[in-house]
Amino acid sequence: MKFSTEDLIEGIQSGNKRLIGKAITLVESKKAEHRLQAEDLLKAIMPLTGKSIRVGITGVPGAGKSTFIENFGRLVISNDKKVAVLAIDPSSAINKGSILGDKTRMEELAKEENAFIRPSPSSGFLGGVANTTFETMMICEAAGYDYILIETVGVGQSEVLVADITDIFLFLKIIGGGDELQGIKRGIMEMVDVVFINKVDKDNFLKAKSTRLELKRALDFIPPKEKDWKVPVLLGSALYNEGLNEVYSRIDEFITLKKKTGRFEGVRTHQAEKRFEYWVQEYILAMMKRNDSVEEAYLQHKKNASAMVSNPSTEAKLFVEKFLNKKED
Ligand code: GDP
Repeated sequence: MKFSTEDLIEGIQSGNKRLIGKAITLVESKKAEHRLQAEDLLKAIMPLTGKSIRVGITGVPGAGKSTFIENFGRLVISNDKKVAVLAIDPSSAINKGSILGDKTRMEELAKEENAFIRPSPSSGFLGGVANTTFETMMICEAAGYDYILIETVGVGQSEVLVADITDIFLFLKIIGGGDELQGIKRGIMEMVDVVFINKVDKDNFLKAKSTRLELKRALDFIPPKEKDWKVPVLLGSALYNEGLNEVYSRIDEFITLKKKTGRFEGVRTHQAEKRFEYWVQEYILAMMKRNDSVEEAYLQHKKNASAMVSNPSTEAKLFVEKFLNKKED
């Protein structure tokens, strides 16, 4: 990395988007030396973080997420706030192709001085991607972004990962379209805080109302995630900029409620603990594999596991015992 940690910190604090981008590339890198520099950087900026509102946004491809973010982002800016847009894209982590990143997205928002858009990281397994996305969010917070919108696609496990790094979760739904496909039966409804039924324009208001009724019924069966919060099901049109103000004020209301009850800090603390656990595992494995003979044993046990020579958990235990050179009591 040709930029010193000091250069990057200064760049972040002065809101220099090019240097913010470089800092993000640094935290996304898996190289050991980059990781070290990333840790120094993150340590230095930590006191500047924590002040944003972290919003997760999900919906099937075509639900209108980028259209929504484009116009919602501009609404945030018109309220004198800065907005950063990040993405967690399961397709890019799994097969290097990308559902979210391939098209030209959010062109108008990208031109705004007070907006920063970062496409999803293209490598790493999904859990890892979510953890570096958290670090990217720290950089954006230190750079003074008030709203961080983290977009993901309604497929795979990515919603769970996004919910683990955000304060509020927004589900964009299109009218009809098959509830199963859109996540009602996949547990998304247990995670959402606000639902926005999109594309309510032209002559489909009546259909939208029946979709809303259906969703509300489904929500009635789900135990409330936040006490005193009934998940609102809003109608609107991202394309024609309708209903976005209401989303903005509902987010505000939800965050205010969570702060009042102590859940805001409570959930963030719990999320941080989970991330700690993730990194403990990452580092243990990385440090173990630094030793050649350990790496060799690791590969051998992994091979045994994959060839079903024995149970994967047995192989994992044998490997760890070999490394620690002792048996479990
Ligand atoms: P994404 O895949 O979820 O990011 O969806 P896009 O934002 O790319 O939108 C998919 C398509 O739906 C595009 O052709 C948009 O113009 C269109 N679209 C998005 N929002 C609306 C809306 O509110 N009304 C209508 N009629 N079309 C919309």
